[in-house]
Amino acid sequence: MPSPGELVFDAPRRGKPPVHLMDLDPAGRKAAFIEHGLPGYRADQVSRHWLARLSDDPGEWTDIPESDRAEIVRTMLPTLLTPVRTISCDDGTTVKSLWRLHDGALVESVLMRYPERVTMCISSQAGCGMNCPFCATGQAGLTRNLSTAEIVEQVVAGARALQRGEIEGGPGRVSNVVFMGMGEPLANYRAVLGALHRLTEPPPSGLGLSARGITVSTVGLVPRIRELADEGLPVTLAVSLHAPDDDLRDTLVPVNTRWKVREVLDAAWEYARATHRRVSIEYALIRDVNDQRWRAELLGDLLAGHLVHVNLIPLNPTPGSAWTASRPQDERAFVRALQERGVAVTVRDTRGREIDGACGQLAAAAP
Ligand code: SAH
Repeated sequence: MPSPGELVFDAPRRGKPPVHLMDLDPAGRKAAFIEHGLPGYRADQVSRHWLARLSDDPGEWTDIPESDRAEIVRTMLPTLLTPVRTISCDDGTTVKSLWRLHDGALVESVLMRYPERVTMCISSQAGCGMNCPFCATGQAGLTRNLSTAEIVEQVVAGARALQRGEIEGGPGRVSNVVFMGMGEPLANYRAVLGALHRLTEPPPSGLGLSARGITVSTVGLVPRIRELADEGLPVTLAVSLHAPDDDLRDTLVPVNTRWKVREVLDAAWEYARATHRRVSIEYALIRDVNDQRWRAELLGDLLAGHLVHVNLIPLNPTPGSAWTASRPQDERAFVRALQERGVAVTVRDTRGREIDGACGQLAAAAP
C-alpha cells in the first residue's frame, strides 16, 4: 500500500509479458517472423486476419499453410488476456470484463453500447500510482505497466465480441476508446503511444479507429501532455482536474503537488492549439468537498474562452469512504455557473454502476 500522498511514477519491474503481434509495427512484425524462420509476408497475412477480419481462429486462415499457422500462434500470438469474469448490465449493453494477465495481475475493460456509438473503457496499467483518494484503483497502488499488446487486445476482444453479435443489439463495431480504466496512461507513455498507433492505423497495421474517437485521460503529467501534443495524433485529451484551486487539488489529485492547476491548464491549452481538439476537463462532484458554488465560478473563470468541455462525474463512492456524490441541487447550480460563463458542460451518465464498472471501481471487487 502506498503511504498517503506518495506518488509512484516508475512501475515496479516484473517479468515482461511475452511479445505479441500487436506490440509491433508492420516492419517489426516482418522482422520477428523472419527471425522465427517464417516468411516475412506472413506477418501481413496474419495481421489482416487478426485486425481486419478479427479472426483468432487459425482454422480460418486458409491462405497460410497449417504448419506455419501453428508456428505463428506459438511464437507471435501468446494469450495475453485470459477472461476471469464477464458481467453485464443495462440490458446487456454494458459489459465489464475482468482479465488475468500472464503473471496473474488483473485488469478490467468495459464496453458500453449506445444507440449511436460503442465506447470501450480500457486499462493502461495494472493498478495506478497516482494515489487519488476518491478512486478505488488509486487505493491499491501500482502493480505494473501494461504492454502495448495488452492494451490493444482489450479493444480487439471487444471488437471481436461485437462483430460476432455477442453483445446485445446485434453485430457492431467499436467507435470510441477511452483510457479511463485502471492506470495513468501518461505514466506508461511508450506503451500507450504504441497502442494509439495500433488503434488508429488502418489494417493490416492497426484497427483503423478514428483518432477523434479516442480519449486519453490524465491526472496532468505536464511534460507528457506536451510530448503527446507533438505526436501528430489528434486524440482527445481529458484532464482530471476535480478542483480549480491548488489547496484542494493537492489533496484530491496528489500529483498537483508537482504540477499546479495553472501549469496543467496551460499544457491543456497548448494541446488544444496543436491538435485543434477540444480538451475535456473531468470533474468528479463530491458532496461538500469540491461542489461549492464559488468553486464552480472559479472553474468557469479559468476555462472560459478556451477550446474546452467539462465532464461532471457524479462521484461513485468507493467502499469505506466518507465521500459521496453531490446533492442534485448543488450539481445543477454547478452546471449553471459554468454555463453562465459560456463553458460547455455535460454530466456523465453512470453506466455500469451496479457491476462496479463505473469510474474508479475497476478490479477493486475482484476475487
Ligand atoms: N488516471 C487517469 C485515467 C483513469 S480514471 C485519470 O486520472 O484521468 C478516469 C476518470 O475517472 C478520472 O477522471 C478519475 O478521476 C475518475 N474517477 C476515479 N474514481 C472515481 C470515482 N470514484 N467517482 C467518479 N470518478 C472517478
